[in-house]
Amino acid sequence: MKLPFDHNSISSRLIFTGLLPLALLSILMAFYFISNQRAEMLSNLHDTGHIAVRQVSQNTAFALYAGDRKRLDALSYATLETPSVEGVVFYSYKDNEQIKIGSIGPSKGEIPANIDISVPFEMGGYWYFYSEIISERSPIMDFAEEVEYEPEKIGWVLVSLSDKILRQKERSFILTAATVVLLSLLLAFWLSIRISRTVSEPLETLKDVVGKMEAGDLNPVANETGISELAKLARGINGLADSVRQSNQLMQSEIDRATQELKKTLTDLEKAMRTKDQFLARMSHELRTPLTAVLGFSKMLHDEGEELNRNEQLRVIQRCSTVLLTMIDDVLDFSRAERSGFTLNIVAFELDTLVEDLNTLFTREANNKNLSLNIDLDNTVPVYLFGDPVRLAQVISNLLNNAIKFTESGSIALAITIQQTKEDKVVLKFVITDTGKGIAKTKIPSLFDPFIQEDTSINRRYGGSGLGLSIAKRLVVAMGGDINIDSEVGQGTTVAFTCEFTHNENAIVEQQNEDINQQLAGNRLSGVSILVAEDNEFNQQLLVKLLEHHGAVCKVANNGQEAISMSAADIFDVILMDLHMPIIDGMEATKNLVKNVGSPPIIGLTADITDSVKRQLMDAGAKSVEQKPIDEIKLLNTISEVLEPEPKQTQFSGEGMLSSVIPVADLKKEIERNLDNLETSFRDSDQAAISSLLHDLMGFCGLYGISEIRDLVVELKNSEMDSRDTASKGFEVINRIRQYMKTSAKFKSTESV
Ligand code: ADP
Repeated sequence: MKLPFDHNSISSRLIFTGLLPLALLSILMAFYFISNQRAEMLSNLHDTGHIAVRQVSQNTAFALYAGDRKRLDALSYATLETPSVEGVVFYSYKDNEQIKIGSIGPSKGEIPANIDISVPFEMGGYWYFYSEIISERSPIMDFAEEVEYEPEKIGWVLVSLSDKILRQKERSFILTAATVVLLSLLLAFWLSIRISRTVSEPLETLKDVVGKMEAGDLNPVANETGISELAKLARGINGLADSVRQSNQLMQSEIDRATQELKKTLTDLEKAMRTKDQFLARMSHELRTPLTAVLGFSKMLHDEGEELNRNEQLRVIQRCSTVLLTMIDDVLDFSRAERSGFTLNIVAFELDTLVEDLNTLFTREANNKNLSLNIDLDNTVPVYLFGDPVRLAQVISNLLNNAIKFTESGSIALAITIQQTKEDKVVLKFVITDTGKGIAKTKIPSLFDPFIQEDTSINRRYGGSGLGLSIAKRLVVAMGGDINIDSEVGQGTTVAFTCEFTHNENAIVEQQNEDINQQLAGNRLSGVSILVAEDNEFNQQLLVKLLEHHGAVCKVANNGQEAISMSAADIFDVILMDLHMPIIDGMEATKNLVKNVGSPPIIGLTADITDSVKRQLMDAGAKSVEQKPIDEIKLLNTISEVLEPEPKQTQFSGEGMLSSVIPVADLKKEIERNLDNLETSFRDSDQAAISSLLHDLMGFCGLYGISEIRDLVVELKNSEMDSRDTASKGFEVINRIRQYMKTSAKFKSTESV
């Protein structure tokens, strides 16, 4: 049994508080009872002694008077029979003699003088009782003698009683009391321990449970039975453990989630870092290789005298530059798509024209490698579509380029069929097949990831950025389709993709008119003075040529500083402002220029593709921002837009024809002049003049988008070839044209301002 010795423990306190009062009480009670018992026994002894001494003194008076020793002995022995009586001493005054019977202590002479012999006294373990012996018997005399009788003291008697029995009884009583006290204390002690254990043991268990909880183990469960308060405490601890466990689980799951996210972010970051490194390494290689060739061949070109060699070197430079341009376009496209996805420019287009263009372009490339190219546009496929023809052409070009690049012999095929039609929507399927080297099946899934090629040998042998398929996939997905590759090593590759388009012929006609008008917008730059602020000489030349081609008058500033001083000295309609220039950059120059009242509109030019730069330029005061490389049509349209007020004299009010450098009236006059001449030529049967006039008229109407007149002219031209009697037909058509010009809205109002 484990005894709780820790004086601070609950059990030792319980035992102590239980035992101490009990022990004190027991001792007091024992003491009380023992002393009571003793007093009672002593009183009994005294009574015995008194009785014994009285009896002896009464019974022995005669024997003592008579000096009858025998009788004294006999009487005394009868007294000695009384328990505790040990001895008797007689003293006779008459004989002046002491008679001792039994064991007796001190005689009268030995009794200390200061003891009151009238009361019992104790000496040497004996109690002594004293009594006078008085003779009450009258003396023998005659009856006639009537004398007064007086009792006579004839001696005394001392009875001694031993307190041995008293002490024995007292001892045994003390022993019994002590045993009882001890036993009861032991019992109490045992009970205390039992009781304390019913408290301390569950408490110990609870302490262990709390200790384990503290150490992080929340599973041990406290026993909820037993003493009600402890059961409550156990319930409380279990409840606490439960809530701690739950909050731990919650916290753990939060930590797990956060860790997962962190891990994913870390993996993404590592992947991004790897991709960035790969990208930098590849770009550095891919850009340096053609650039080195361009530089080397330019130098050779510079030193070369032979025309033949020069042509070859120019061809290499051109090829390398094209590779460079493709690479930069790919990277820009990809980075734009990564940032904000592709923005599709949905317009009406004719699929057959697009296919024809691709055919022309790629037949030459395929033939260069002795490959045949077969493009099959299923005749059920609608050709008038709404979609982004530029992006569609980009995807097909990319796939045809790959097919030609990775095929050494055999053929390339592009098949276009309908996969699905619903209402005005049509899903087309484009399948590009080649008989080239093929791709290992395991590599196919990763090829749509950026910068991934089948293996490293591909880059060494064929070059490329590994971005083409990844861009194609993004574009196809943006166009509502999907793309996949099927390939067999050594057998060839089939890449199939789908795209969704809207099929709408009315919209096509509207779009065509819009396109014509956009082209016509180019002539509006006639007479417009433009300051081109650009530090790069090549870009200067390119911009100036482009703008002059559309009739603008250009001057060039090499930096922001020059732009400021030139615009102070001259009047310009528009300023094209490059962002990055020495001395003062485009941003500062723009801020500076717009401060002046009447400053011409500024169009910012930047190669930066981020929106923030564009915003900054606009904030600085630019009216619009164009991105390099410059899109010719877009630039011309932007210039037209910023030129305020609209040059009304160049505006057509005819439907669809929004702008032209020639006023409608002049155009009308010109057509009529041509028709007059044509009538004369028909009359004169001047075949050469007729042909020449028809040709001019056809080109003129085509150029200015008057397709109705152009169609009539074409009709006339064809009949001119077929029939001999063309004059009557000619007059008829001329009348129809005149009629059309009278009724068509395109030729109404319009007089120039
Ligand atoms: P690039 O052509 O610039 O390398 P792409 O993303 O267009 O990048 O192509 C990725 C890789 O897919 C190519 O490097 C080549 O390994 C493989 N590949 C694509 N098209 C074909 C094909 N028609 N035949 C064989 N391999 C191809």
